[in-house]
Amino acid sequence: MGSEANIEPVEELASEPTIINKLVTWGYKKYSGSREIDTIIIHSAYDALGDDPYSVEGVIKEFRTYQVSPHYLIDREGSIYQLVDDNNIAYHAGVSEMPDGRIGVNNFSIGIELIYHQSESPNEAQYQSLAKLVKYKAEAYNIPLANILGHEAVAPGRKTDPWNFDWGKFEKMIE
Ligand SMILES: [Zn+2]
Repeated sequence: MGSEANIEPVEELASEPTIINKLVTWGYKKYSGSREIDTIIIHSAYDALGDDPYSVEGVIKEFRTYQVSPHYLIDREGSIYQLVDDNNIAYHAGVSEMPDGRIGVNNFSIGIELIYHQSESPNEAQYQSLAKLVKYKAEAYNIPLANILGHEAVAPGRKTDPWNFDWGKFEKMIE
């Protein structure tokens, strides 16, 4: 028998993942017209103030405190929540620069936050949901693999998320 730990790649054609609507009223700038999106930034966060670090409501409350928001939030069960419409500029990356030199990464990116503690990695359900969402969006906006990056890659020295993220494994899941 093969190892149970083997990762099943998500199916060839990206199917639309189930997305729960949870739009917020802060942390983004409305964009008129059709926004050019060619980048996905992956983040991690947890609720440091409440009893439950994995609380979706707690993490969203933190976002509100800082007036920031990703486009998508993936909880510890792998459920995907949409907080900001893709066409709007969400405030998730802050002061940032792409490897190709472009700054202001929020302007042309989609931000995805995974909820887990800094001492952990994403769990299997989160990797699966993230892969499904990233595959689907990469196909929809024609986003190259090189532009699917962690926050740390566009804000080095300032940000360290997504923490303990297995890029080798993730790239196999989205290829
Ligand atoms: Zn981040």
